This record gives sequence, C-alpha cells and structure tokens, in this order.
Amino acid sequence: MPYLIDTHAHLDADIYANELDIVIKAALSEDVWMVTLGSDYASSVRAVEIAERYPTGVFAAIGLHPNRVPLDLGSAEKPLQLEKFAELAMHPKVVALGETGLDFSDLPQGSRGGQEEQLAERLKASQKVVFGKFLDLSRELRLPLLLHCRDAYEDMFGMLETWDKTTRGFDSRGILHGFSGSWKDAKRFFGLDFLISVTGIIAHGAYQSELTRKAPLSRLVLESDCPHLTAMPWNLRRSEPGYLPSVLSSVAGTRREAPELVAQETTRNALNVLKKIARS
Ligand SMILES: [Zn+2]
Repeated sequence: MPYLIDTHAHLDADIYANELDIVIKAALSEDVWMVTLGSDYASSVRAVEIAERYPTGVFAAIGLHPNRVPLDLGSAEKPLQLEKFAELAMHPKVVALGETGLDFSDLPQGSRGGQEEQLAERLKASQKVVFGKFLDLSRELRLPLLLHCRDAYEDMFGMLETWDKTTRGFDSRGILHGFSGSWKDAKRFFGLDFLISVTGIIAHGAYQSELTRKAPLSRLVLESDCPHLTAMPWNLRRSEPGYLPSVLSSVAGTRREAPELVAQETTRNALNVLKKIARS
C-alpha cells in the first residue's frame, strides 16, 4: 500500500511539457501514487501512455469531460467513439472511467425562451446522454466512475439513483471530485456509495471545510486536481501530485486527526474503489 493516492490528476496537461517525468518522479519519491484522467478520447490515450511509462504507481482513467461534450452528438454513437473507450478500458493501467459527469455552470445565458436558453437546454441534454453512456459502460465493464459535477446536482442525483437500482452487487461505484455542493448533497452521494475527494483548496478558506469536518473518514479520499486547485503554500503555481502531503496535513488539521491515520484510511478507501490498482 502506498502512503497516499492522488485520485484526480491531469498529467497530460500542456503545462507539464518536458518536466512531466520530474513531476511524476517527485511524487513517487514521496510514495504518492496517482491516477491521471483523460478529458476526451485523445487525452485518454495520452493518460494511458503516461501510465505505461512507469512500472508502478501511475494509473489512468478514461472519459469525456462534460465541458468537452459537443452540442451535436450527431447521428449517435460515432462522434462519441464509445466503442473506442470500451476497448481502451481493457488496458491493465485503466482503473476507472472519468472524467465524466455534468457541468451546467458555464452554459449560455439569455432571456427565457430565447436562443441562448434553447442552446443551453440542448447542451444539457447532450451532457446527459454522454454521462448516461458512461454509467452504462461502468456497469458493463465493472469499472468505477470518477465524477465531475457543477451546478447540476439534482440532475446528477436523478441519473445516479436510477442507475444505482440496476447495479446491485457492484461494490466499486466511484469518487466525486472538486466537490462544491452542500453537506446535504454530500450525504446523498454517500448514500449512493460514492466517496468524495478533498482538494488542496480547503487550505484556502471555508470551502469544503464542512465536508472535511463532518464526513466519516471512510468516505474521503485525496486529490490534487493538478494542474488546478493548488494546495498552500504553492497556490500561485501549478499543482502537482507531489503536493498531496500538504493536502493531507490540511485535511488532518481540519479534522483534528493524526495525519498518519488520515493517510492510511484515505489510501485504503481509494484502493477499495480503484480495485485494479489494488490488484496491480
Ligand atoms: Zn478533472
């Protein structure tokens, strides 16, 4: 068992360029393992290629980020390349499906019934179709989900609750990242057997601190969301998986628990969901 697992990283981001190997080795030298997520098919292929370069400690998740979902899904499956995702998912380094989910935070806004509103509704519908496909794929392949949700909690709960009823006996549902909902929302995710990952931004203020204080430790894991959401004291720089020990100390401090305990439990929780890492 590694010391910590970064359950949400984007190591294929351009910002790392030729320093990527240094960034990854810095994390591995701290005994931090990591999952790098794809945002679309090309980025998912890059995630797998990055994971392949390291004999252990680096894993991939493949998905289509809701903000990358095209308005027009066209005459169905082809532009989504779902069959290609399913094929890539069989790779031994692919431990989850994601990034996937719903994001209604940045949709066009305008007057009621106007063009922008219609466009926004179509974008929402496309995101829901794609998310539904990934839910199905998760059940089919028995791979956990790495979820993104912004300003779309009710829609996501509606879909997850329906899906939940058809996935009995599947004990590896997934992890919600970048949580920005209420404590009530968090409890609904826990009720659906999802874990929530905590980021470095808890060190920036009250954000996520209610979740971090109140959640049972058995429901939390850690993430860097690199290159975004940098932990203190590096908040002016890009984030890295190697900064996860600082996320750990923020979480342990907020919860008034020993860092060793939080490290051990969050790593165990991550391995319980990301079963392909545990078997690797
Ligand atoms: Zn992400």
